[in-house]
Amino acid sequence: MPPLRLGELLQKKGLAKESHIRIALAEQAITGNLIGAILVKLSFVSSKDITQTVAEQAGLSFFDISSYNIPEEVLRLVPRDLCSRLGFVPLKVEDGIITIGIGTSENMRAVDAATRITSKPPKITMVDSSAMEAALEKSYYFLENPIQEGIDKIVESVKTGELTGTKISQLTDYLVKDAIRRKCTDIHVTPTSDTVHVFYRIDGVLLQGHCLPKIVHSGIISRVKILSKLDIAEMRIPQDGSFSFNFLNMRYDMRVSTMPTIYGENLVIRILGSGGAILRLASLGFDKDDTERLRRLFLKPYGMILICGATGSCKTTTLYAALREIDLIEKNVLTVEDPVEYRLSMVKQTSVSEKAGYSFEAAGRTFMRQDPDVILLGEIRDEETATIALRASITGHLVLSTLHTNDAVSTIPRLVNFNVDRFLLSSALLCVIGQRLVRRICSGCKKEYTLKPGELESMGFTGLNDMKTTFKGEGCSDCGGTGYSGRTTIGEIFIVTQEIKELIYSGASATAMLDVAIRNGMKTMRDNGIQKAVSGITTFEEVLRVAG
Ligand SMILES: [Zn+2]
Repeated sequence: MPPLRLGELLQKKGLAKESHIRIALAEQAITGNLIGAILVKLSFVSSKDITQTVAEQAGLSFFDISSYNIPEEVLRLVPRDLCSRLGFVPLKVEDGIITIGIGTSENMRAVDAATRITSKPPKITMVDSSAMEAALEKSYYFLENPIQEGIDKIVESVKTGELTGTKISQLTDYLVKDAIRRKCTDIHVTPTSDTVHVFYRIDGVLLQGHCLPKIVHSGIISRVKILSKLDIAEMRIPQDGSFSFNFLNMRYDMRVSTMPTIYGENLVIRILGSGGAILRLASLGFDKDDTERLRRLFLKPYGMILICGATGSCKTTTLYAALREIDLIEKNVLTVEDPVEYRLSMVKQTSVSEKAGYSFEAAGRTFMRQDPDVILLGEIRDEETATIALRASITGHLVLSTLHTNDAVSTIPRLVNFNVDRFLLSSALLCVIGQRLVRRICSGCKKEYTLKPGELESMGFTGLNDMKTTFKGEGCSDCGGTGYSGRTTIGEIFIVTQEIKELIYSGASATAMLDVAIRNGMKTMRDNGIQKAVSGITTFEEVLRVAG
C-alpha cells in the first residue's frame, strides 16, 4: 500500500490528523522508515489501529491477540519456527479448519503452509504484527515448559528428601512466571500451620494458585529477599524492597513487601505494569455522553482536572487516553510521574527521583520555566503537590492529576484538608472523574441467566423489576473457570458548575454537592455499573462487589 494511501485512510477514520501525517512524512524523508511505523513510534496512532485499518481495507477481520491464550492443541499442530519464518500465528481449530492470524494483508506463504498442515484452506484474520512475536514467544515457551509439571516435580523432591537450594530458586521462578502467564498483578505467598498457599490477584480478585509443603516457605522468602536486597536474617519486622525480573525479552518491575505473621513471613509481590498500548478515550468504558463530556473538558485551555480512585484502578490509563485527545503538536505537555508507565512521544515525560532531589514539587517549579500548556502531575499526595497543581491551573495551564479518594465528590473535602484555598479551588477545578474497575463477563462462556423473583432487589438493586434475565459466565478454559475475562471502567464525572463552585466556596458538605450534581444529571459509578450489568458487559454481583 503506498504511504499516502494509509495516511489518508487513517485520517478518514479520524485516527490521525493531517499534522500527524505531515510530521511523519518529514521523519520519513530523514529515516526512510515506513509511514505506519513512524506514526506508531510517534504514538500518533497505535499499531493495533493501523492493523485494523489495513484489515478493513483488505476485507479481512481483525483479531486481538494481546489478551488471547492460544489453546495447546493448536500450538502442537504448528511448529514454532514455521510461524516466525512465515509471519503468522495459529489461533484456533474448529471442525478441522485452522484460523491463522497474519500481520500483513497478503501472506500467501502462510496460507499455503496452513493448508498443507490441515489439508484444508485456513480461515484468515489479521493480527497486530507488533504483538505477534511476543504472543508466539510466550505461548510456545509455556507449551515447552509447563509450569505445573515443574512445580509438581519440585514438590515430589521434597517427599524424597532431594530438595536443594537450586530447586527453591527454580520454584520461585515458576511462581513468578506463572503469575506473568496469568496476567496477574500481585502474588501472595501465605504460610499456614503446615502448608504454603500461593494466591494470584487477577482482574482485581485473589485466586488460589498453588499449595506447597511448608518446608519450601523459608526458602522462597529468602530467595525473594536476596533478589530484593533485603535482610534475610530479619524475620520479625516488615521489610519493603524491589527487583526486576527479565522474562521473554520483557522486563518486569516487582515491588516486594514482607510481613511477619504467626505462621511465618507473609510475602506480597506486586508486578508493576509495563504500560502497554495507550487506549482511546472512547474505549475506556465511559458511556457515549460521558466520553463526549470528557473530550470537551480535556480541550479546555486552563483549569484542573482530577481523576480519583483506589490503587490499581487505572487512573493513569485514563489520563493518557485523555492526553491523546490533546493536540500534542500545538501544545507543550510536560509530565512528572512515579514512575512513567506509558510512553507517548512529543510529550516531555519525567520521572520522580527522590534520591537526586527531583520531587513532584521540584518538577512543578521547573515546569513553569519550560513554557508549558498542559502539566500532568502524577499524584496529589500532600499540601505541597496540591498547592503546585492549583497554582499552575490558575496561571493559565491545564493541570491533570490523580488523587486517592473513593469517589469523585470526596475529593473536595480531601483537598480542603490539604489547606488549599477554597476560593482558588472553586475557580480552578473543572471536574473530578471517579473510577473503579469491574470484571467483564468472559465472552467464551457467557450465558443467559434467568433471575429468581426479587433476586436483584435482595442485592439492593431497585427499580429493575422488569428484568427477567441477565448474563453470567459459566466458566471455561479461557477464563480459568472464573466466568470473567479482563476488566472495564465504571466511572462518574463530577462537573464543577457555577452552582457547585458556590458550594465549594461556602464550604458545603460533600453530600450536598453530590445531591446538586445528581439533580443536574450526574450519573454515579454505581449507576454506570448497573447500566453495564443490564447490557451484559458485567454482572450485578461484580457491581455489588466494586460499587456497593
Ligand atoms: Zn470463560
